This record gives sequence, C-alpha cells and structure tokens, in this order.
Amino acid sequence: MNTIIEPFRIKAVERIRMTTPEERLGFLKDAGWNVFKLRADDVLIDLLTDSGTSAMSDQQWGAMMQGDESYAGSRSWQRFEASVQDIFGFKYIIPTHQGRAAERILFSIICKPGHIVPNNSHFDTTRANIEFTGAQALDLVIKEGLEPQNPHPFKGNMDVARLEKLIEDEGREKIPICMLTVTNNSGGGQPVSMANVRAVSAVCRKHGIPLFLDACRIAENAWFIKSREEGFADKTPKEIAQEMCSYADGCTMSAKKDGLANIGGFLAGNDESLTRQERDLLILTEGFPTYGGLAGRDLEAIAVGLQEALEEDYLRYRMASTQYLGEHISKKGVPIMQPPGGHAIYIDARAMLPHIPPTQYPGIALCNALYLKGGIRGVEIGTVMFGKKDADGNDLPAPMDLVRLAIPRRVYTQSHVDYMVEVILEVMEERDDIRGYRITEEAPFLRHFTATFEPT
Ligand SMILES: *Cc1c(COP(=O)(O)O)cnc(C)c1O
Repeated sequence: MNTIIEPFRIKAVERIRMTTPEERLGFLKDAGWNVFKLRADDVLIDLLTDSGTSAMSDQQWGAMMQGDESYAGSRSWQRFEASVQDIFGFKYIIPTHQGRAAERILFSIICKPGHIVPNNSHFDTTRANIEFTGAQALDLVIKEGLEPQNPHPFKGNMDVARLEKLIEDEGREKIPICMLTVTNNSGGGQPVSMANVRAVSAVCRKHGIPLFLDACRIAENAWFIKSREEGFADKTPKEIAQEMCSYADGCTMSAKKDGLANIGGFLAGNDESLTRQERDLLILTEGFPTYGGLAGRDLEAIAVGLQEALEEDYLRYRMASTQYLGEHISKKGVPIMQPPGGHAIYIDARAMLPHIPPTQYPGIALCNALYLKGGIRGVEIGTVMFGKKDADGNDLPAPMDLVRLAIPRRVYTQSHVDYMVEVILEVMEERDDIRGYRITEEAPFLRHFTATFEPT
C-alpha cells in the first residue's frame, strides 16, 4: 500500500519561530518551570493540547462568512442543530461556549452532595465540575486501562461488573447519571468498544440511570471501532457514531476536539424537563438557547467541522500520523502507553525516569526536558494534575505519571512528526541527567494550569 498522505493541501500558512536552547532555558525559568505559562510564540511544536487547535478547512471558513448573527433563531443555529442531530440523534441540543460549560450546567442540576458519578475515567474539568457540586467522581475503567504496556484494543472500556457492584452497594438513588468518555482522554486516548457501550447502557437502563457520553472524540473512537471491532469494518464512522449515541440518553461535547473548531460545545439529551432546567441555567451564564455563548459564525464552523471529522480519509490519515509517532519512539525504547491513542501519544514518564519519585513529578520533568531540548510543549497527566493529598497535605502519587503529546488536527506535517521523534529520542538518551521538581505555589483545584515549580 502507498504512504498514507495528508488528505489536504495547504492554502494558508502560519509561521513558527525557531529558538535556541539558551533562549528556551530563560523562557522556562520565567514561566516558573510550568509550560502552561510559556508564551505560545516561544514554542516551536505545540503539543500541549488538541483542544481548539485544529486547522479549519476552506469549507469551514466559507461557512463562517454565512454566519447569521441574529440574536434568536438564526439560520446558523438551524444548521448547527441539524448537523448535531444528524450525527448524535438526541432530541434537544443546547449550544455552549465549550465542553466544560455543558458539564457545569448538567452537573449543577443533577448532582448533590453524597452523589456518585461513575465514568470510565473522568476528564479533569468533568471531575472538577462534579466535585464542585459536592458529588464524587468515580473512575471505573477496566484494569487493563491502567497497565501502560497492555495492548488491549479497547482500554477505555468501563468495568461493567464494578458498575453493577457500585449500584448494588450504594443504591440507584445515589447515582444520578453515568458517564462514558469516548475516547478516554485521561486514560490515554483509548477507545471504548461498541460492545462496552451496549453493556454499560444495558446496566444503566435496567436501573433507570441516565447514560451520557462525554463525546469529545467520538469520531476517533468510531474509527477505532471500525478498524478493531468485529462487524464494523463496512460501516462508516458516522454510522458507528450514530449507533454509539443510540445507546445513550445524552452527551456533553467540546467542539474544540472532534468538532474541528477553535471554540464551542454543546449539551444534548432526550429528557424534556431536564432540558428546560438546563436552558434556564444556560440563559443565566451562556446566552439565549439558540446561540449559547457562541457567535453565529462559530455555530457554522462547528456544523461543518463535525461532519468533516467523520470523513474516512481524514480519520485514516490522523490515526496513521499519531501511530507513526508512537511506533517510532517505542521501537527505540521510549515507554509509551500502548497501543497509541487517537489524539495523542502518552509517554510513561514514571517508567522512563525511574530515578525521579512520583512526588517529584517525573511528568513535569519530562515535559520541561522536551521543551528545553527541542521547543516541544507537551503536558503532564499525573501526580500534579490528579494527585490527591493525605491528611497532612502531602502529595499522594496518581496511578500513573504520563506526558501527553497531543496532536492538533490537520496542523503538522510528516516532517514535523519526524522532528518530534528525533527530539524525544535525544531526551531519551540523556534521561539519567534529568532531575525532579518541587511545587513553590499552587491553586486549590486544577492546580496544574498555574502552579510554579523549581528543580530539586
Ligand atoms: C476537552 C474535554 C472536555 C472539556 O471541554 P472544554 O471544551 O475544554 O471545556 C471534557 N471532556 C473531555 C474528555 C475532554 O477532552
């Protein structure tokens, strides 16, 4: 078979700025050794997130010119609603400025102190929004999902037996909703199988618990089902996404991921009375129900982007590109979460830097080394992001210390990916010289965004 190429040509380019290692050392020190606090201009290859960083297509830019900025009932809203319903199939669609706004509205209505919300793995904003209501966010991913080297094809699956046991032990009344994150971002961008969606849905329906998808990367998850799960090879990614949604009662979505847009999201569901309460809250903080904090042109970009993200040629190229990065570094001994996820490669920093204990943040140490070596910005997903504290306020290690290299959609070319491979392998060679960090300042929640560090 021929090389899988980028299924697009480039019509507009954006310059990136070269920097020297000496310059980067100065920038990182000034940023309190936290790559979140760097100026984007000082980053050469930005793999901090795939969120809102997609390159839009000519079709999307063209649609934006047709944005209808009417306050209520605009044409753009109608196109947005039709596109979302076409794929997701839910009755009521509520646009929001991004995914976490959908989460906040949903959870502040249905969650109370003492409630428990199960998920395969909660994303950080999802967890924070649930915990903010006083409820508990519980991860029930299958045990293979916590074993970085295990090549299980659907490591994002929920452990259905544990879900049943939870319902039995705690009682249905304590569980207002069950979530399923597709793909499982915090668990390594790993997919959930259709069989698992069906099984989780069956348990939820038996007990009358609504099942919501955290659908941010549903197109990528659909591609994994198509290529890995028996019986789906001949289905289109869109048909697969539609079937996944048919087992759920609603979803939260960040259009900044598989919406191929730079901003936006939505909350969707089939329950009329819940939707009425959601709309009331929406008006309080986001805006009128037909724009929800977005411009008409944003709604247009999302309407087109959601459909483009499900195109086969696009998904084939995207998955091949991510896999290429993963395979070329793991072949040389860099421990990565196997198999490669959809939107990112996760390096197992704890395994790569065994001389740095989790309480000295091997993930932060590796992130900083990648920036200093090659101007690449990744993100720690580990003890800083998820770490809990003991009664004395000391850090407890997270289950894993990973560094996520998220690949923006349609942004970088094959030679950029080759450069990433080179830089990672150079850091791998010099890994014994990398040191740990301690925190000098932190916020009470979502501390990873703003904490400052110093090398130990
Ligand atoms: C990004 C993301 C969110 C939150 O969406 P925002 O648009 O960043 O607010 C929620 N869940 C998952 C799985 C995500 O990846």
